[in-house]
Amino acid sequence: MSIVVQKYGGSSVADVEKIHRVAAKVVATRERGHDVVVVVSAMGKTTDELLGLAHAVDPSPPRRELDMLLSTGERISMALLSMAIQKRGVDAISFTGSQSGIITNDRHFDARIIDVRPHRVEDELARGRVVIVAGYQGMSYKREITTLGRGGSDTTALAMAAALGAEHAEIYSDVDGVYSADPRVAPDATHLPELSYDEMQEMAESGAKVLHAKAVEFARQHRIAIRARSTFLESGKETVVHEGVEPGEQVRAVVGQKGLARVSFDDGGEKVGFALGHLRKAGVVSRDLRTADGRTELLVVTAQTPDWEKNAKALRADFGATIEEGFGAVSAIGGAGDPALALVETLAGEGLAPTELIVTPVRVTVVLPEADTDAAVRAAHARLVG
Ligand code: ASP
Ligand code: MG
Repeated sequence: MSIVVQKYGGSSVADVEKIHRVAAKVVATRERGHDVVVVVSAMGKTTDELLGLAHAVDPSPPRRELDMLLSTGERISMALLSMAIQKRGVDAISFTGSQSGIITNDRHFDARIIDVRPHRVEDELARGRVVIVAGYQGMSYKREITTLGRGGSDTTALAMAAALGAEHAEIYSDVDGVYSADPRVAPDATHLPELSYDEMQEMAESGAKVLHAKAVEFARQHRIAIRARSTFLESGKETVVHEGVEPGEQVRAVVGQKGLARVSFDDGGEKVGFALGHLRKAGVVSRDLRTADGRTELLVVTAQTPDWEKNAKALRADFGATIEEGFGAVSAIGGAGDPALALVETLAGEGLAPTELIVTPVRVTVVLPEADTDAAVRAAHARLVG
């Protein structure tokens, strides 16, 4: 019997009624004759609320305790979904990340999966049960509870799919796939029926929230297709992320990201090496590290760094860093036709002045004041994709 891995995001399990509707979908899949593993996120905005509670206690909370707290969100939804499935007369059992055999490194809040040992999951599938796995969490090799970074339930789903030998993973959310820009920001964004792993990973790393970057990495490594679909919209559309999508001439998507802090060091020497080591160890999420003229710079994604205040203090005091907050970034993904010039021209035409331009073979990124991010996404999308 083939194994189907389905992941349902927070908005799909936001209340009891939705949990029942998800249970009905799971049961229907089971009745088509598949073994079904379901990965769930925390209900609605639960993770944000838990993070808010922690920050009310301490603006830079200890990460170990944060993981103990945040991992409870997915425990709630896994148990409720299992109950809802059993109520429909289908056998089901829920497991936490550690019970599912998800082993991670020991970096709290942003842990990386290093192994999956899904024996209990396989045993329960063999007993004919639907298995519900709490997303976004695992257990470190030190037997500590860890979480996988915001949006990490996607990664749980892909890791399970890889370990169980599934050929694709179905990722359900409130949108019917991936668009050429966030439709809430750029209403003329178009649906993308397929994307390459490269393009999707660049989009995720540039701040698109539709799929977790590490999930795409897993999918690529194990050659598993990702099918991103809507849970409740019957649009008939989906986005398939797989290999063999040819890169196009045109830019594929425009992605904005807010809440960036620019960290710079005046020398490129040993001190910077130590500072980067500190950032990695502390689990500070950053992007676009670059060095020029003896100056090193990077962008910290503050929303993904729950103890940023503490780390910013250490960077200034111990490593002589200069930190400026309040930046956004806009990235044009794909496009063999060198979109850099067109992007800069377009923004200049709108009176938006980027402070920096970063060019890689698959992406062009501008850094600009955070408040200009949405306007820049709209302008760039209209010119480069629309
Ligand atoms: N509940 C976690 C979050 O909101 C993980 C996830 O949704 O994938 O970040
Ligand atoms: Mg969530």
